[in-house]
Amino acid sequence: MTDTSFIESDERRALREAVAAMAANYGQEYYLAKARAGQHTDELWAEAGKLGFLGVNLPEEYGGGGAGMYELSLVMEEMSANGCGLLMMVVSPAINGTIISKFGTDEQKQRWIPGIADGTLTMAFAITEPDAGSNSHRITTTARRDGGDWILKGQKTFISGVDQAQAVLVVGRTEEAKTGNLRPALFVVPTDAPGFSYTPIEMELVSPERQFQVFLDDVRLPADALVGSEDAAIAQLFAGLNPERIMGAASAVGMGRLAIDRAVDYVKTRQVWKTPIGSHQGIAHPLAANHVEIELAKLMMQKAATLYDSGDDVGAAEAANMAKYAAGEASTRAVDQAVQSLGGNGLTKEYGIAAAITSSRLARIAPVSREMILNFVAQTSLGLPRSY
Ligand SMILES: Cc1cc2nc3c(=O)[nH]c(=O)nc-3n(C[C@H](O)[C@H](O)[C@H](O)COP(=O)(O)OP(=O)(O)OC[C@H]3O[C@@H](n4cnc5c(N)ncnc54)[C@H](O)[C@@H]3O)c2cc1C
Repeated sequence: MTDTSFIESDERRALREAVAAMAANYGQEYYLAKARAGQHTDELWAEAGKLGFLGVNLPEEYGGGGAGMYELSLVMEEMSANGCGLLMMVVSPAINGTIISKFGTDEQKQRWIPGIADGTLTMAFAITEPDAGSNSHRITTTARRDGGDWILKGQKTFISGVDQAQAVLVVGRTEEAKTGNLRPALFVVPTDAPGFSYTPIEMELVSPERQFQVFLDDVRLPADALVGSEDAAIAQLFAGLNPERIMGAASAVGMGRLAIDRAVDYVKTRQVWKTPIGSHQGIAHPLAANHVEIELAKLMMQKAATLYDSGDDVGAAEAANMAKYAAGEASTRAVDQAVQSLGGNGLTKEYGIAAAITSSRLARIAPVSREMILNFVAQTSLGLPRSY
């Protein structure tokens, strides 16, 4: 049998083209202008939802496209490569959509998935806590029972897009599982619930999607706010993490492509000696190396998505971590080289590359840091002992 998995099908290529065409109508100028004006990219989100791009991975019976993470990552990559990759895609359809459609009750699916799929509903995701950081086992957001209700108390930080979201999937723990290894319990919390509040964190990122501290002050939730079982929830949480990493990789691959494209366009025509600066190997070789690195990261991302969609969660975890690492490194280097290739123009507002300097660093830090991925690979792939 011929394995054609390296060759994208006609359907996938058509999806790429359709997403790229839509995203190009908005582009990086639109994205940066919205960010600088303190506005959201609602039109783009609504159009991507209407065209079926946001929910392409979600089940058809709940309004999704019935495809997989491969297709959703492709949407992310193309939007990002056109200068308007949206962080909330990592969160709302990829993490939350996956977890709820795999582990939610039929009622929960009917309530949340159609809106997540068509973009009329945005759901943020909150796991990070100030005193736990990368060590999720230390989270202290706790749910206690009160009759049939849950009362949720805790604090979260760096939560993206809470101001755009109607609900947040909050990772907490139940009072009975307050200490020891994390036995997470996942709750859908409406952003207008009494006791739920948030304040923005001022970031040096030019992004229309902002980060927030979130305070859960005895938020009362009905029994059906709990997604999945309170005991098996580590598997439920992990079900959302591979998609998160694949999407993190897709966003970074897109950003790397954008940076390389911009630099290549520029150095082909900019001439200060006898030939365009792109003919000097000091400029050409780093850009060629960036291109190689981005293509390699993309290949690992496609492998991760293919493994994930085939149901191989273990294989997907290793590949998704590696893809996220490779894409984060490759795009950070590509952006750095793009700035350098444009000389002074690399730092102007007009050329739009400087804004990517901080944004590209995000791919090394979130959703999981470079170091934590290397820990995973060292321990899981290489069998090395843990330092922590
Ligand atoms: C723009 C942005 C958006 C985000 N959006 C969300 C969101 O929507 N929802 C959400 O829940 N979170 C979100 N986060 C949080 C993000 O997931 C965390 O910032 C990330 O996991 C790192 O945690 P930390 O910032 O607490 O760093 P820390 O855990 O304090 O780590 C600091 C540094 O130490 C390193 N380090 C820590 N432990 C080890 C170790 N054992 N070995 C080696 N190195 C180690 C880390 O790699 C890192 O370099 C977002 C963050 C940012 C910046």
